[in-house]
Amino acid sequence: MFNVLKGTHDVIKDEALKYSYIEETLTNIAINYGYEEFRTPVIENSELFTRSVGDSSDIVRKEMYTFDDKGGRSITLRPEMTAGIVRSMVNAKLFAMQDFPVKAFYCGPNFRYERPQQGRYRQFNQFGVECVGVSTVERDVETIVLGYHMLQFLRFRDLKLLINTLGDEETRENYKKALKEYFGQHIDEMCNDCKERYKLNILRILDCKDPDDRPIIDKAPKITDYLSDAARERFEKIKEYLTKLEIPFEVDSELVRGLDYYTGVVFEFHYTSSNGNNYGAIGAGGHYGNLVKEIGGPDIEGVGFALGIERLAKIMEDDQLFPEINRNVEVYVMPIGEKAVQKAVEIAFELRLDFFRTEVCYEKKSMSALFKKAERKNAKFAVIIGEDELKDNTVNVKNMLTKEQVNISMQELPSYLVEKLDQNEHQHEHSCECSCCEGEECEHDDCDCDNEEGHCCCHHKHDCNKA
Ligand code: ATP
Ligand code: MG
Repeated sequence: MFNVLKGTHDVIKDEALKYSYIEETLTNIAINYGYEEFRTPVIENSELFTRSVGDSSDIVRKEMYTFDDKGGRSITLRPEMTAGIVRSMVNAKLFAMQDFPVKAFYCGPNFRYERPQQGRYRQFNQFGVECVGVSTVERDVETIVLGYHMLQFLRFRDLKLLINTLGDEETRENYKKALKEYFGQHIDEMCNDCKERYKLNILRILDCKDPDDRPIIDKAPKITDYLSDAARERFEKIKEYLTKLEIPFEVDSELVRGLDYYTGVVFEFHYTSSNGNNYGAIGAGGHYGNLVKEIGGPDIEGVGFALGIERLAKIMEDDQLFPEINRNVEVYVMPIGEKAVQKAVEIAFELRLDFFRTEVCYEKKSMSALFKKAERKNAKFAVIIGEDELKDNTVNVKNMLTKEQVNISMQELPSYLVEKLDQNEHQHEHSCECSCCEGEECEHDDCDCDNEEGHCCCHHKHDCNKA
């Protein structure tokens, strides 16, 4: 027996369906905001991360999966995706076209050697966006709004948005001096990591998660008191926009983020499940002033964020935020006898070409055992082929919900199923359960909205309530 490695997990069956639901939903919203998909390798040159995420970050100091490959190159499994995405933009010379901003969305696994605990894995998935070649405050706002919109759409209602600014160069120089002076008096009492952070990058101390250090950190000078006029004005503008858009937020002056490339605004989304579980930030990001230049691109800035899929899925499960996702079998084909089995192969082939979700039982079983299997699979229709049916080239179709059974010709089967399945889905007025409709019924009885089957008028993917 082999078990999954510590800090990793299998995502199978219903859970995988839920991950796909999250990823598809986020993809659709990102596309609406004008982002295009980027897929970059999981392995990168180690130096990409030491340069971007930064030598003083916990990620680079102790969390990276780094190894030499057979050619002696230092390789790292990506611990985050921004660096790789920006590298891909530089390599593809997307900035040479000067058609800014370049907007990328992405989704995939990341690897960090962390202490596994609730909501914290060694392999975890992120969905993120990067908008590169930006200078205006409006792009920062648009990015925060996008994250908020995505989470709202996934039905995270009591969302907590924390924001802070790391200011500009002048701000950070003055602030670091103030921190040096303050922590200089306390550093002997602090954890070993903080002692190192004190030397490497003093801002990092504010991100310390050791509870014993918190009282000291809480009394440290606040960056908001050291902002240059330009940095203050920019931060004020962001707050004004968020207020105007009625997006609730709190300023958290200790928020610095765990990656060195951030400058300007930084933000995190938090949410506590109704059972009190808090898995840490569900998403986080910020503005980066120097990252593009640092990895070989032009002197342009960017802004982005990443959401943690595992944390989203866990909360959505806890708080039942997932819509009903139905991938049940539509047609269960039940051949009785050997000859019928051959026919079943052909029928299933045809039905699947017509995109009916079809399953067949090729094993020898009694009729009652076959029906039990169809029920377990929540099949909508059973298609029974016995000797009589083979003789006259027909099939028996049983509606598993109404128990109605008809004998029809093989040729009629697809059109019969289309008509009946459609009725199963749409014959009744359906009430949307997603909160975007606020529980109100759709105004049409025939579901004549233009959306794809399985989508209600508000584009939430869920089945209609059966009458
Ligand atoms: P934290 O403060 O919780 O350690 P972080 O600052 O390291 O988070 P980022 O690197 O900004 O997080 O990653 C963005 C998002 O990715 C986080 O908000 C979180 O949802 C998710 N994430 C980060 N690390 C992990 C992990 N080890 N397991 C699961 N999800 C994670
Ligand atoms: Mg972390």
